[in-house]
Amino acid sequence: MTTSTDKINLLGLTQPEMEKFFDSIGEKRFRAGQVMKWIHHFGVDDFDAMTNVGKALREKLKARAEIRGPEVVSEDISSDGTRKWVVRVASGSCVETVYIPQGKRGTLCVSSQAGCALDCSFCSTGKQGFNSNLTAAEVIGQVWIANKSFGSVPATIDRAITNVVMMGMGEPLLNFDNVIAAMHLMMDDLGYGISKRRVTLSTSGVVPMIDELAKHIDVSLALSLHAPNDALRNELVPINKKYPLKVVLDSCMRYMSELGEKRVLTIEYTLLKDVNDKLEHAVEMAELLKNVPCKINLIPFNPFPHSGYERPSNNAIRRFQDHLHHAGFNVTVRTTRGEDIDAACGQLVGQVMDRTRRSERYIAVRQLNADADSNGVAGN
Ligand code: SAH
Ligand code: SF4
Repeated sequence: MTTSTDKINLLGLTQPEMEKFFDSIGEKRFRAGQVMKWIHHFGVDDFDAMTNVGKALREKLKARAEIRGPEVVSEDISSDGTRKWVVRVASGSCVETVYIPQGKRGTLCVSSQAGCALDCSFCSTGKQGFNSNLTAAEVIGQVWIANKSFGSVPATIDRAITNVVMMGMGEPLLNFDNVIAAMHLMMDDLGYGISKRRVTLSTSGVVPMIDELAKHIDVSLALSLHAPNDALRNELVPINKKYPLKVVLDSCMRYMSELGEKRVLTIEYTLLKDVNDKLEHAVEMAELLKNVPCKINLIPFNPFPHSGYERPSNNAIRRFQDHLHHAGFNVTVRTTRGEDIDAACGQLVGQVMDRTRRSERYIAVRQLNADADSNGVAGN
C-alpha cells in the first residue's frame, strides 16, 4: 500500500502551484519549469537525475518533496494493442487506466475516483460503490505511468498519447478541483502538451459543476445521455432525478457558448438490449437533440457478471445508428477494445474498498434473483 509522508508530492502540482512551492522554499520560480519537464517529459521521480539542478537544491528538494505516482499493481496488453494498468491509490483501493491505440491516435482513458456514488444501473464501477476521490497526483499519475511505459513511440504517430478521456472509473465532476488540476497538466506544454480538443471530460450530468467548468478550464465535454426521456433516464442514470434532461442539456449548451468558439458536445449512449435500443428511442433522441450541436457515440453495452443487461444485436445497433444518421447526426459506434483483458467501457472495476456497502447489497439482490430464476420464479 502506498504510504503517505509529510513531504509535498510535486507530481500533481500545476505550474502556478509549482512556482508557489519554489517561492515557499526561497528558490527562483524558473525552477518550476525545469522540474516539471523532468517529471512529465522524462518521467523522472529521482531528484538526482535532474542534471540541470545543482546539488544543494537537489538535497533541499529531497528533504521537502517527493515525486510519487500511484503504485502499479499490474499491466496487461490485449491482443489488439489495448493496454490496461491497475494502480493502487492512497486510500488502498485500486483503479484502472486504459490505453487504446487506433491508427494515428492513442487514447488514454483515465479514472477520477475509486468507485462511483452515482450508481448508474448498467455500470460496473457504479456497482462497486464509492470509496474515495483521487488526488491530482493520482489522476495525472495515470498519464505519467502510461507515458513512461512507451519507451519509444510508434513511427506512425509523434507521441504515444494523443488524446485523454476522463471516462475511466468515477464521476470526474464530483472530484472537481483535482480533475481540473490534472487536466491543466495534460494540456500544459510543461506537462503533456495535449490540445484542448483532445482532452475530454465525460459526465453523467452534474449540472452545478458543468456550470462551474467554463470558469476553470476549456476542454471538450461529453454527456452520458443513455435515454431520450426523463422516465427512462431516471431508471438508468439516477442523478437524472435531480438534474433532468432539459436542465442538463441547457447547462451543456451554456458551457459551449461560454467558451466562445464553435463547439460540439459529444453524446454518449450505451445501447442496452430491449431497454433503450428501439427505433422509437432513436426517433425521440433525434427530436431531443435537434438543436444541440453534437456528435453521437453509441456504446454497445459491455457485459459484466450479474448485470441483468444484454448487448443488442448488430442489426438493432445498425438500425438505431441509421435512424440518427438519416436525421442528420454524426453518429459513430464505439468498437469494443481490449475485451480479453476486461478493459472495455463500463468493465472497469478496480478493487474498490466500498464505503457505501452498495456492492454487498448488489450481489445479494442479484443472488436472490438468480435463485428465484432457477426455481422458475421471475426475478426483476
Ligand atoms: N462517470 C462518467 C465517466 C465514466 S463512465 C460518466 O458517466 O460519463 C464512461 C462511459 O462509459 C459513460 O458514458 C458510461 O455510461 C459508459 N458505460 C458505463 N458502463 C458501461 C457498460 N457496461 N457498457 C458500456 N458503456 C458503459
Ligand atoms: Fe458513475 Fe459514470 Fe458509472 Fe454512472 S456511468 S456509475 S456516473 S462511472
